[in-house]
Amino acid sequence: MAKVSIGLRGWRFEEDEIFSDDEELKPLDEIPEDPRERLLRLVSLVEEPCDVCYLDYGEEEIHRCNEAQIVYGEPDGEVLLCPEHEPDLLYWFREEGGSDHKGSVEFADRFHEWVAAGNEAPEGYGSVEHVEEDPDGLPDLPDQQEVQERLEADFEGERIDILELAGQEERDGEEITEEELADSDLDLSADYPSDR
Ligand SMILES: [Zn+2]
Repeated sequence: MAKVSIGLRGWRFEEDEIFSDDEELKPLDEIPEDPRERLLRLVSLVEEPCDVCYLDYGEEEIHRCNEAQIVYGEPDGEVLLCPEHEPDLLYWFREEGGSDHKGSVEFADRFHEWVAAGNEAPEGYGSVEHVEEDPDGLPDLPDQQEVQERLEADFEGERIDILELAGQEERDGEEITEEELADSDLDLSADYPSDR
């Protein structure tokens, strides 16, 4: 069975548990409980900021945070990351005892504490490729970026249905205009503190 990521890479789903034979998303009541829980959680996480960026900038400067592209951990105890900050999580997991919290909802809290204490991966640490050499490393190793992107495209039209089913509501009144987004991109490239 093929495993796929949707929306954010990291969490993996058995393709035929969530997609029908014609590659449409299955009705939620036909999806087993565990992947359904992850799927619904995932929908609420897409477009959230990277946790490490957020710890750096806080709510006041949330526009400077990168949007998360990666999710590790368990639903409700997950860590969201941008590619720039993924090495911090990998380093903590592999070298700083983070793997002790694998599968626990404490996973995210422990990582956040480590980051908040001023820790980060050494410069140039660990690309994803580096970790993929170790099959016992992180759970749900991201790979198959292309598969994910294809599925994201397919998934786009289903997203609103899922939001409705999940009882989620689109955030009102805080939608960022494209102009603000462009400005914030400029800010990010000009002011971002380092190329870690
Ligand atoms: Zn980040």
